[in-house]
Amino acid sequence: MLIGRHPSAMTADRHPPQVSVRPCEFGLGLFAVRPFAEGEEILEFSGPELSFEAMLAKGELEANTLQIDDSLYLDLGAPGVYANHSCLPNAGVRNDRQLVALRSIRAGEEIRYDYSTTMWENHWTMPCRCGQVNCRRVVADFPTLPSQLQRRYLHLQVVQRFIVERLRQQVRPR
Ligand SMILES: [Zn+2]
Repeated sequence: MLIGRHPSAMTADRHPPQVSVRPCEFGLGLFAVRPFAEGEEILEFSGPELSFEAMLAKGELEANTLQIDDSLYLDLGAPGVYANHSCLPNAGVRNDRQLVALRSIRAGEEIRYDYSTTMWENHWTMPCRCGQVNCRRVVADFPTLPSQLQRRYLHLQVVQRFIVERLRQQVRPR
């Protein structure tokens, strides 16, 4: 992610051959080594699970975590931790941990997903300079997204399951 990267995590032998970690405009980024078809899995995010409190204790490094439940985070390892945010992403997170291509991706392209599809914690925001025409300028929790964009991500099934469940509870009639 964008800040607080662990250079020590960049051991090349741990990288699946289909992606590489290379410099990009924001430090380091995740790049496709080969083309990916729309819907294809690029990698599975992995790392130890952390509670919200344990995530907070990481300080600036909390940006290297992926929210997978109401109060549960993955402390991301390489190479997934190097996937940067975009407001117009070419990838998304399916089933909480799988990074999948949202369109065909060329070899050499940087792979990015929309961090807001994995965030609903009322805690962390990040300024965005992704440079896309639709850049929101700030990355924040999923409910802050325009409703049309929320529907698009839900339709693509690249929204964390705890977020989908919370949205469902909000609309449930009493
Ligand atoms: Zn942006």
